[in-house]
Amino acid sequence: MVGQKLGKDSDRVKRAIEVAKKAHEGQSRKTGEPYIVHPLAVKKILEEWGMDEDTIIAGVLHDTVEDTDLTLEEIRKEFGEQIAFLVDGVTKLSTARSGMRDIDTYLPATKDNFLRLLIALGDDIRVLIIKLADRLHNLRTLSALPPDKQKKIARETLEVFAPLADRLNMGQLRVELADLSFKYVNPRRFEELKNMIEKYYKSAEKSLKKIENEITTALKKEKIKYKLSGRVKSVYSLHKKLAKHNQNINEIYDLVALRIIVNDVTDCYLVLGIIHSLYTPMEGRIKDYIAIPKQNGYQSLHTTVITKDKRVVEFQIRTNEMHEYAERGLAASFYYNEQKLTENYKKGKIEHLPTNLLWISELQMTAARLREGKKVDLKKLKLNLFADKIFVYTPKGDIIDLPKGAMPLDFAYKLHSEIGDHVVGVKINGKMSNLNKRLEQNDIVEILTSKNQTPKSSWFDKIFTRHAKQKLSHRLNAENRLEETSSKKHKK
Ligand code: MN
Repeated sequence: MVGQKLGKDSDRVKRAIEVAKKAHEGQSRKTGEPYIVHPLAVKKILEEWGMDEDTIIAGVLHDTVEDTDLTLEEIRKEFGEQIAFLVDGVTKLSTARSGMRDIDTYLPATKDNFLRLLIALGDDIRVLIIKLADRLHNLRTLSALPPDKQKKIARETLEVFAPLADRLNMGQLRVELADLSFKYVNPRRFEELKNMIEKYYKSAEKSLKKIENEITTALKKEKIKYKLSGRVKSVYSLHKKLAKHNQNINEIYDLVALRIIVNDVTDCYLVLGIIHSLYTPMEGRIKDYIAIPKQNGYQSLHTTVITKDKRVVEFQIRTNEMHEYAERGLAASFYYNEQKLTENYKKGKIEHLPTNLLWISELQMTAARLREGKKVDLKKLKLNLFADKIFVYTPKGDIIDLPKGAMPLDFAYKLHSEIGDHVVGVKINGKMSNLNKRLEQNDIVEILTSKNQTPKSSWFDKIFTRHAKQKLSHRLNAENRLEETSSKKHKK
C-alpha cells in the first residue's frame, strides 16, 4: 500500500513546516484555527495520495507567497528550483478564476472553461494535484464560510474540480469532492438521497450477507484469492443517475455494489463466470472495462445479477492494481512512476504516463508554447477528454455533459428517452430556439414536451450523438412494428 510516508518527515519537510509556521504566524482561518492547520492538512492529503517529497513540501508552502511576506525568491534559495516552480504554479492558480484571467492575455479566443483552467494548470501536473488537495481541505472546512461563498465554491467544485478528478480517474477524490459540494448546493436533496441510500442499504443488508456467504463458499472451492467489500453509491452520482432515469429508483441497479478484488486478470474472468453460475445475469448489464477501459483508464468487470431472493445486485471485479488506479488514478500512477517522472520533470517532459493520460503532456507542451507567444491551433489540440465536451444546464441547475456539436434533441434524449420522444420545442437561455441549434458551453436548456408528440424520422438531421440516434431508431423501429401489425390507417 502507499501513503506509508505518514509521520516520518524528512529534514527538508520539517524545515518547510518551520518556514510555513513562521510565515503564517498570527494568521487564522475562518474556522478560528491558526492558519498553519490548512497547509498541514494539505500536506497530509498529499502524503495519503503517495506523492513525492517535492510535492509535499510545495503543499506545505502553497499559500505562503500569496498570503504572507515570504517571497518566491526566498523559497527558491532555501528549497530549490523545483519547489519554487510548484509553489509559483499553485499561487498563479489561487483561484480557478484568477487562473483563467491570467489566461485571457494569451488565450482570448476560447470560452471553454475546462480548457482555460487546464492550460492555466498545465505547467506541471503536480501543481494540479496540490490544487486538488487544497480544494479538498477547503471543502472539508467549508462550513466556516458565509452561505453565499459556500454555494459558490461548492458549485465551482461540482463543475470543474470533481469532473477533473474523474478525468484523472481519482475515484475516491471525485466522490468526496462531489458529495461535499452537493451538500451545500442542494442540502434538502442531499439529505433526501442520503436517507434513501441508507434505507435501501438496511433493507438489503441481510440478503447481501447471504450473497457474500455464497460467493465466499464458491470462491474458496475454486481456491481463488480475493477481497470482498461492499460499496454504496455516492449521493451525487445517485442524484445524476436519477435525473437520467426519470427519478425512478427502481431503475438504479448499482445502489449497492459488491466489489471483488483478485490477484490477476484471469481470476477476474473466472470470478465473473462463477457469479453467473450462481445467479442470473441481467441482459445488457455485463460490461468489460478490462478489455475496453473507460476514457479515464478505469478498468473492471461489471455485471448485474438477480439473486435467488429476487434482489438486483451489481458486482465489480478487478485486480489490486486496477483497484488502486480506480481509487487514486493519476496519483497512483504517479507513485508507481515516481522516479521516472521526477527525472522527466527535470528535463521538462512527462513520459511514461499511462496512454489515457497522455493528454496531460500534450497540454503542458501547448501551455508552454502559448506562454512563449507562439500560435497554437486549438482545433488541432486533442485534449481528448475536455476539448470536445460542453457542459449545459437544466433549468433546475443540473449539469449535463454533451459532446461539442450536440443539439437540443441530444440533450433531451440524454435526460430520458421519454423526454426525447415527446419534444415539441426548446428554450435556450430563456428564449425559444430551433431544434437544430448547436448547444454552447453553459447554455441553460429547457425542453418543451407534449404527450401527443411522437418521434419523427426527420429528427435524425437534428441529432448529433450516437446515443440519441440509437434511441430514436429504436423508438421508430418499435413504432413501425406496431404499424405493420395493426391496420394501415395509422400510416403517415
Ligand atoms: Mn490553500
